[in-house]
Amino acid sequence: TFNISDVIDEVYATLAPAAKEKGIVFAKNNLINANEAIIHSDSEKLKEVLKQLLENAIKYTEKGSIDFRCFYSDENTIEFLIKDTGIGIPQDKFESIFNAFYQVDTEHKNALHGSGIGLAIAKAYTQMLGGKLSLENNWELGTTFRFTIDIHLQKKAEGSSAYKNTSA
Ligand code: ATP
Repeated sequence: TFNISDVIDEVYATLAPAAKEKGIVFAKNNLINANEAIIHSDSEKLKEVLKQLLENAIKYTEKGSIDFRCFYSDENTIEFLIKDTGIGIPQDKFESIFNAFYQVDTEHKNALHGSGIGLAIAKAYTQMLGGKLSLENNWELGTTFRFTIDIHLQKKAEGSSAYKNTSA
């Protein structure tokens, strides 16, 4: 069991200096109940997904802002929005970017730096967490990733003996 807000705070604290160094405004807006726990899930995977999305947002943004929002999209779902004002991802690449080693070939100085594996891992982890990862269709304004996890399933698992004693 772990507290989602702790994970959010930790990831934000880890990446805020890199955003600051580039002069990017990095805002965190967390509306999740401070005591909301995730049960029998993997905090490392959740952390990795969020870190990957935020690292990319910083990497592909030269000026402007990154908005990191966490809220309940309904009573059973926690939603994370990672929105940047960077170079954007062309809509016809929305699926390819999740493939391992795929990188969009652009003029941006950071394009093709890195391994192109980050989003493939993020997608795989998302599926292991029973969540969803997708892009919002506003690519002309930058990039927005939406990552959701179903806390209803997590809570149900709490009552199931099959899940007892699983380390979180
Ligand atoms: P690394 O594995 O080191 O993170 P990478 O950033 O190239 O390398 P991914 O994180 O898998 O690899 O991203 C795949 C591609 O998607 C990137 O090469 C980039 O073209 C594009 N991309 C990802 N996030 C963003 C973003 N926030 N804005 C613009 N393009 C992005």
